Amino acid sequence: MIDLRSDTVTKPSEKMRKAMYEAEVGDDVYGEDPTVNKLEEIAAEILGKEAALFVTSGTQGNQIAGLVHCKPGEEVILEAQSHIFLYEAAAMSAFAGVQTKTLAGDRGAMKPSDVEAALREDDVHEPETGLICLENTHNKAGGAVIPLENMEAIYQIAKRHGIPVHLDGARLFNASVASGIPVKKFAEQTDTVQICLSKGLGAPAGSIIAGSSAFISKARKWRKRLGGGLRQVGVLAAPGIIALQENAGRLQEDHESAKRLAEGLQNIKGITLESEVETNIIIINIAHSNKTTAAFLSELKENGVLAGEFGPHLIRFVTNNSVTETDIDQVLLVIQKILHFQPIS
Ligand SMILES: *Cc1c(COP(=O)(O)O)cnc(C)c1O
Repeated sequence: MIDLRSDTVTKPSEKMRKAMYEAEVGDDVYGEDPTVNKLEEIAAEILGKEAALFVTSGTQGNQIAGLVHCKPGEEVILEAQSHIFLYEAAAMSAFAGVQTKTLAGDRGAMKPSDVEAALREDDVHEPETGLICLENTHNKAGGAVIPLENMEAIYQIAKRHGIPVHLDGARLFNASVASGIPVKKFAEQTDTVQICLSKGLGAPAGSIIAGSSAFISKARKWRKRLGGGLRQVGVLAAPGIIALQENAGRLQEDHESAKRLAEGLQNIKGITLESEVETNIIIINIAHSNKTTAAFLSELKENGVLAGEFGPHLIRFVTNNSVTETDIDQVLLVIQKILHFQPIS
């Protein structure tokens, strides 16, 4: 199977498995797992923050940020197609007791003037704005890189109003590789950041949240409350270290595969690219083909290719380290065949 459903399907490499086997461990709830401590130090350094915390998932990292930054009854500003709003089961409302205020973005980027206009007044009728969330790269916008200047402008406004900014950087390393801007520079424009080790970076599990030391000590308590205080978890931190130190650079290969796939798809009748391909996500629209989304996906599967549904007529492909150039060419052949095969009558 050529699996393009997500970059979460990546499996730990031989080197990662060896590091897991050999990892020095201790009880991380006591702060005594040397491998976790090392991962957190490395991550804080790469992200340019005082401290970092290893958390079970990207969702948990984003939710801890919401819990630390906000009080119940506050409002969180985020982009209308953001992962936190669409795909985290309303966790911010369920756990942090906040309501969301969504703003439509342009390729995932909210207009700074819209953000400023959405900030709440000091009025007995209104909730207080507790947090602004950004997402880079933006998943639903097809892996779009949010420009650094856009983040800067929003952060300036937030600072002026004393409101914290959190970055959902599940794919921040993709943004960095595509733009040539270090992850640190993006993270500098926010108070806190979440990155996924388990997507394109290839670790089997886990995310990092980073911010000030004060933020991280509160985050540690929330992680415990949420049941995320793990014990000898150095076995999972060890591949995380390899993910950070060695795998960020190879994301370029995923971006090249994505470009190759996008170029090929553009030449197939019945398909339009839904958005420009900047990183490792390709979204196509098949409204003008003769297939329903369900039929298209099941015929892909019969031909050894997995992809995901991403809305009416929309299909998402995500390149990842298990996919070769030859695989991409094979995917293109399969799609040609599915869409244009005419049975001989
Ligand atoms: C995957 C993802 C998350 C959540 O990560 P999980 O580890 O799956 O919980 C958050 N934000 C974005 C943009 C993502 O793509």
